[in-house]
Amino acid sequence: MRLFIPGPVNVEEDVLKVMSSPMISHRSKSASCLQQSISKNMQILWNTKNSILLSTSSGSGLMEAAVKSLILKKGVFFSLGAFGNRWYEMAIANGKEADIYEVEEGYSNKAEFIDSILKKGCYDFAAITHNETSTGVENPLIDISNVMKKYSEIIFAVDTVSSTGGVDIDVDSCKIDFCVTSTQKCLGLPPGLSICSISDKAINRTKQVENRGYYLDLLTLYEYTINKDYQYPATPSLSHMYALDYKLNKIINIEKKENRFQRHKLLADITRDWARDRYKLLVKDNNYSDTVTAVVNSRETDLKMLSSKLKDQGYVFSNGYGKLKDKTFRIAHMADTTIEELKAYLETIDKLI
Ligand SMILES: *Cc1c(COP(=O)(O)O)cnc(C)c1O
Repeated sequence: MRLFIPGPVNVEEDVLKVMSSPMISHRSKSASCLQQSISKNMQILWNTKNSILLSTSSGSGLMEAAVKSLILKKGVFFSLGAFGNRWYEMAIANGKEADIYEVEEGYSNKAEFIDSILKKGCYDFAAITHNETSTGVENPLIDISNVMKKYSEIIFAVDTVSSTGGVDIDVDSCKIDFCVTSTQKCLGLPPGLSICSISDKAINRTKQVENRGYYLDLLTLYEYTINKDYQYPATPSLSHMYALDYKLNKIINIEKKENRFQRHKLLADITRDWARDRYKLLVKDNNYSDTVTAVVNSRETDLKMLSSKLKDQGYVFSNGYGKLKDKTFRIAHMADTTIEELKAYLETIDKLI
C-alpha cells in the first residue's frame, strides 16, 4: 500500500532493513556512539548547537515533557488547530497554569498579535505549532521568532512534528529553546521515537521546576545524554535509533537538505495546483504547508467511497482531522514521496471523482 496520509509514511526498504539490525547493549560504547552520531546529524538538520535529546515515545511524549519540565509560572499556547490545542490540553492535564489563543481554521498566528499578548508579562513559556497538520498551515516562524526574541524570560517551544525533514528550520537563528519532532512524518521512519533540541536556557529552567516526572523529565534525559556520554536513562528503542542515524546520513549526505526541501516545495506546488482546479484550499492567508495540503470538499465528493476505491488501487487516503473530518480531506506530500508517485496518485483520484 502507498500511504498518502500525514504520518505514518512509507518507509524505504533499506531503512526497514537497518531497523532490523542485531541488538547491542544499551549501556555499550556502541550505543553511545549511535546516539552521538544522531545528535550530530540532528544538529546539522536543525542548524543548531543546542543539545539533542531522544525519547522512546512518539512526538506527543516530548511535547508533554516540555510542559512538565519547562513551565514554571504560566504557559501560553498559540494554536492553529488540533495539535496546538492538544499541547495546551497536556499543560492543563499536568496541572500547569496556561492560556490558549486559537486562530480560526486555515489562518496562521500573527506575530503582532503574539507580541500584544506577551507584552502583558504573565508568561514564562510560549508554544507554537510550526506546521499544523490538520489545516495545512505553516506558521511564519521567522516573524514569530523575531517577536519571541524580545522576551528573554520566555522559553520558546516549537512543534515541528510535521515539518522537520521536509522544511528548513533554523533553530539557532530563530532562538528556539525547545524544538520537537517525531520519526514517522517527514523523516520517513516508522513511529515510536521523538527528538528535541534544547537550549541551555531551557535546561536552566528545568532546574527550577518541581515534579517534572521521571520518564519524560527533560533534565534526566539531558544529564544522561550530555554528562554520561550519550546514554539514555531507560532502554531506548535501539532499532529506531539505527534507522534514524542511517536515514539522517542519507538526508544530509546523499539527497542533501536543500534538494529535499526543494522537492517538498515542488510536491506542495503540484498538489495545490491540482486542488485549486478541482476544489478549494483550506488555507486562507497564503501560509501554505509544504508537507501537507488540506482540501475543502467543495464539490461534495463522497469521501468514504473515494477512500474505499483508492484502497482497491493500493492507496491509503486521508480525510480531514478532528472537526474537519467530513469537511476536508488531506494529501500528505512528505518524506520520500517522489513527483511521479504524487502525480500517479492525483491521476488516480481524477479517475474516481
Ligand atoms: C502528528 C503530530 C503530532 C503528534 O505526534 P505523535 O508523534 O503522533 O505523537 C503533533 N503535532 C503535529 C503538528 C503533528 O502533525
